Amino acid sequence: MNVQSAPSTQATIDKLRSAVRGRVVTPEAADYDDLRAVAVPVDGRPAVIVRPADARDVARAVSIASEAGLPIAVRSGGHSGAGHGVVDDGIVVDLRDMKALEVDVEGRTAWAETGLTAGEYTTAVAAHGLATGFGDTGSVGIGGITLGGGVGYLVRKHGLTIDSLLAAEVVTADGQVLQVDAQTHPDLFWAVRGGGGNFGVATRFQFRLHELDAFVGGILILPATADVLAGFIAAAEAAPEELSTIANVMPCPPMPFVPAEHHGELIVMGMMAFAGSAEDGERALAPFRALATPIADMVRPSPYPDMYPPADPDYHPTAVARVFFLDHVDPDVAGRIVDTLADSDATMRVAQLRVLGGAMARVPSDATAFAHRSSRIMAVVAAFYEGPDDRIVREEWVESFAGALRQGDPGAYVNFLGDEGQERVRAAYPGATWDRLAEIKRRYDPANLFRSTQNIPPNGGPA
Ligand SMILES: Cc1cc2nc3c(=O)[nH]c(=O)nc-3n(C[C@H](O)[C@H](O)[C@H](O)COP(=O)(O)OP(=O)(O)OC[C@H]3O[C@@H](n4cnc5c(N)ncnc54)[C@H](O)[C@@H]3O)c2cc1C
Repeated sequence: MNVQSAPSTQATIDKLRSAVRGRVVTPEAADYDDLRAVAVPVDGRPAVIVRPADARDVARAVSIASEAGLPIAVRSGGHSGAGHGVVDDGIVVDLRDMKALEVDVEGRTAWAETGLTAGEYTTAVAAHGLATGFGDTGSVGIGGITLGGGVGYLVRKHGLTIDSLLAAEVVTADGQVLQVDAQTHPDLFWAVRGGGGNFGVATRFQFRLHELDAFVGGILILPATADVLAGFIAAAEAAPEELSTIANVMPCPPMPFVPAEHHGELIVMGMMAFAGSAEDGERALAPFRALATPIADMVRPSPYPDMYPPADPDYHPTAVARVFFLDHVDPDVAGRIVDTLADSDATMRVAQLRVLGGAMARVPSDATAFAHRSSRIMAVVAAFYEGPDDRIVREEWVESFAGALRQGDPGAYVNFLGDEGQERVRAAYPGATWDRLAEIKRRYDPANLFRSTQNIPPNGGPA
């Protein structure tokens, strides 16, 4: 469709211009291309991008899109692996002008608008010695990561991001602005804690803040052998809950603090995050440092926001990935991981292992829409690709790598899904979770307006 000449689309744009306080951006605008770009190489060309100033603007944009029958995409940080933050010929509700943050230092809570990134929120609340856990990357939007669950550097100490979510403000498909929490609209509050953007536009979240006046963290690089990797996972499982880790088995990037002779060599890049004092941190980290002589050890007492170093906004590698859960990584499994990565010629390939447990695992599986509470390790395997032919090769490789490692848990984490089809979305919501989500979807979004998501169709069947 040529959106600029379609009279009904033009009428919708005119309506939006008179109804909302925020910016309404159309393809002629100089910054249209910048604003429609998302983190993955999805070249979506929306008819219009609305940059709401507040929840009222969001409600008006949703109502106008719904009346016009235009597809809608909601964008916070734009990091969806499937490019769900943009849509062809429809309306993008781009929340990035909504960045208000109210911190109640005494009460240990914060109300945050959903245009904030994890890094922006984390830096602002760290000024008070406080934190809420998000993921491993500062540029990810608090909108998407929270709605999908949120697995990050405080996961074992304080649980998923949604375990610190106290309330939300949600604009539903009928244009209502609802305040939801455990008492008010409890079904919707349950669904937005893991069910993604299927139920409406979250305009604000209220988070619990945790004291974090001391922190030890950074990168620990070890040689990638089966014994080191299995030892790393065993140490992470035995560690106090203050320590959350991410083990990335990958070729060593040319980082300035790593001697050049190690560049390109297969390494275990441990992202270490200890929420506690320097002395306790040293004790918790000792078993990892004892696994082998570290190639680089950048782990030290530091401000927590340092875990989110500035990223290049123009760096958009093209990669394919699979997420799944594991029960154990013994030397045999670790050996298969190391050997498979060593045999690949992709410019970059990685197996990422996150030991879960701790506070996250103490929440019952049916308490929120994130049901993988008893899974012990989250794994992602990924490879970069160059061009469409290479993509096919790398996709086969990640699929077969994941297939060789799976240990019987068919689950997936919704926030790490790409455009992988309906079965994989179902895998994110096992058993009764899917049925309950579909039922709530029928109530709050019967026409499936919010389908530029890892979609839960109202009928519970194929979208
Ligand atoms: C480099 C990178 C690192 C990552 N690391 C982690 C990690 O450590 N832990 C982890 O848990 N996840 C991680 N993720 C996954 C990330 O949490 C998801 O991709 C998340 O959905 C991105 O949120 P976003 O707001 O940035 O993206 P968007 O593309 O803006 O949104 C993602 C989805 O959520 C919907 N959405 C966003 N905001 C709202 C809102 N306010 N209301 C309704 N719907 C909304 C969108 O419509 C879309 O469907 C990572 C992703 C990347 C690319």
